[in-house]
Amino acid sequence: MKRMISVKEEKTTVNKTLEKAGTGKELTREDALELLAIRNGSADYYTLLGTANAEARTRFQGRGTIFAQIGLNASPCPANCGFCSLVKDVFKEKNSFLLPVETAEKMADALVGQKVDELFLMTTANYPQADFLEYAARIHKHLPKGMRFVANLGDFDREYAKKLREAGFTGVYHIRRLGEGRDTQLPPEQRLRTMDAVRDAGMELYYCVEPIGPEHTAEELADEIFRAKDYPVEVMAVMKRVCVPGTKLYEHGEISAAELAKICAVTELCVKPKRAMGVHEPDELCLMAGANQIYAEVSVNPRDLNLSTETGRGASIARTHALLAAAEWKR
Ligand code: SF4
Repeated sequence: MKRMISVKEEKTTVNKTLEKAGTGKELTREDALELLAIRNGSADYYTLLGTANAEARTRFQGRGTIFAQIGLNASPCPANCGFCSLVKDVFKEKNSFLLPVETAEKMADALVGQKVDELFLMTTANYPQADFLEYAARIHKHLPKGMRFVANLGDFDREYAKKLREAGFTGVYHIRRLGEGRDTQLPPEQRLRTMDAVRDAGMELYYCVEPIGPEHTAEELADEIFRAKDYPVEVMAVMKRVCVPGTKLYEHGEISAAELAKICAVTELCVKPKRAMGVHEPDELCLMAGANQIYAEVSVNPRDLNLSTETGRGASIARTHALLAAAEWKR
């Protein structure tokens, strides 16, 4: 018969896991599940956040990081992700939009001028792959030598991964989303094959536990935290799901800032990303709980109904600087 664990015993286990986390030792999946079960606002909660914060500040040498993303297009996307403003069930064909490449070039110049660390280009999953390569090659010419350039697009094979690299990309943001195949119409295996193609082409994979909603279990979160460790990745992130009106998952609501900070802290302590630990939506609490990286966004954004997200949900460069300064990350 299974022995019942008393509250005192449970407390001792959490204390030991927090102590282990504080020494920088590698955490197991079981450790992660214990930490994710900590009650928000409890004394252990603040120990967890403080431990992740201290470790991240040491590893990142107190430096905050700003990435910028330009969204190229908006059109009804067949992937039909239950949280996205661009899904075919929500986004009207007549509102389809492609950012003129000349405008994107000016945006890239402005972002580079404002000293962002890395630039991302994002498209919907159905944007033609050949067009994306041409578009990207134009933008790449505007980046200073050595600046990392990251693609965020639909699935692709090994051959296309090589072409992305030739177009100047150094990395790709690609994930197996929470609820992939259930809340999206994309097979999870296909997402993993694309991630393998990125790695095999010698590009850097950027990973994230996302989009986190209140219905996701600690087991589901742990799956993605430990998948990142398996690849491995040097830039990790966590992202909460934003309620976009009209989307399938809207009614589930959103997790709190406190919950996101806890997941951020656990992810940072488990993955220990070498280069950066990111958070969306950017907030000061996560920047005090292991995160040091946030995004500025321009043009289309799947979390926004506004096609110029810089005037909507997307953070401006000025705001990203202010957030990092508020949490005392250096630039
Ligand atoms: S999140 Fe990306 S893949 Fe999913 S519907 Fe939106 S644009 Fe398409």
